Amino acid sequence: MNKGGLYFHIPFCLRKCNYCDFCSYTGVAEEQMRDYVRALICEMKHVAPRATALSFDTVFFGGGTPSLLPPELVGELLTAARDCFQIERDAEITLEANPASIDGGGLAALRALGVNRLSVGIQSTSDGELSALGRLHTGREALAFLRLAREAGFDNLNADLMYGIPYQSTESAKRTLDGVLSLAPEHISAYSLMLEEGTPLFAKKDVLPIPSEEEEDAIDTLVRTTLSEAGYLHYEISNYAKEGYPSRHNLHYWHSDPYLGFGVSAYSFFEGVRYGNTRELSRYLSSPTDAICDEEVLNESDLAYEWIMLRLRLREGIDLDAYRARFGIDLSLRYQKEIDRFCSMGLMRVSEGRLALTESGFRLSSGILVDFLDA
Ligand code: SF4
Repeated sequence: MNKGGLYFHIPFCLRKCNYCDFCSYTGVAEEQMRDYVRALICEMKHVAPRATALSFDTVFFGGGTPSLLPPELVGELLTAARDCFQIERDAEITLEANPASIDGGGLAALRALGVNRLSVGIQSTSDGELSALGRLHTGREALAFLRLAREAGFDNLNADLMYGIPYQSTESAKRTLDGVLSLAPEHISAYSLMLEEGTPLFAKKDVLPIPSEEEEDAIDTLVRTTLSEAGYLHYEISNYAKEGYPSRHNLHYWHSDPYLGFGVSAYSFFEGVRYGNTRELSRYLSSPTDAICDEEVLNESDLAYEWIMLRLRLREGIDLDAYRARFGIDLSLRYQKEIDRFCSMGLMRVSEGRLALTESGFRLSSGILVDFLDA
């Protein structure tokens, strides 16, 4: 039986961060959250009959700020998901949480409901940087929240960090890393800040002291070396994990496994088709069984292309035999010139039947992937 992941998009936030272009709404009352959960359950029941051949070993509550949802509503969603789908007993169940959105009692309630992984939006522990990002917490509160999650029984924690933030320096990035590492989360994601058009941060990009490319590179190097010395495996371009703790849910995306997404702006990938839901909350609430507004059928060449793009993000890379068996293409012949070139530059390696980017290749991944696939 094929394994996959379930995703619930919870689009509620206390306040919009200055850099955010995710689908999220502020000022939503608890009653509307209840309506939203009812709509999610309705959408699940609608989709379930088509997914009987799948079993799910991951569930992910993303947002938005899912920790704003009262725990009893998270419980209702999990119960409905178990009624609708085959969810494995040891499934990884992740919920994204922000400091300032839930207290210790709420975290303990989530743990008791079966949520076994908490992904915490820390970004930085420097108050000046957090204020530029428009985050609602201080650095001290962010670290206290990680501690609170431990006390609530979470033994699988992710900390989301960011680099390229206005006012950030290698010294402040080092303080953030040291603070977070003192709490030893099992997983750390470190993304470069994207300046998205239409956000307040984008409008101020020319007046804010945003690190230059060289400064960002230096912070990136610091992140890699510090986390490697602390025993984290750099298993994906932007993700680091202690042994046994990579995000099983995100691995489904990078492995092109099926996933079902519910709620506004959620995407699903199922039987070779990618579906995207509306971003409009009112439309979703009024007709959750008719929420799809984007549908893309992926042909074999699209799937073969995605397989390369996604798997080269991973340290494990591409299993060349598996690729040949799936698509009938010998990658080492098809891209022989490019592979030789990138291998001689130390950016790619072929070993034990796998093609992968090296650590230096990770740094230049976007350029390499474009070159490689344009060949
Ligand atoms: S908490 Fe996350 S989803 Fe909400 S506004 Fe901030 S970045 Fe966006």
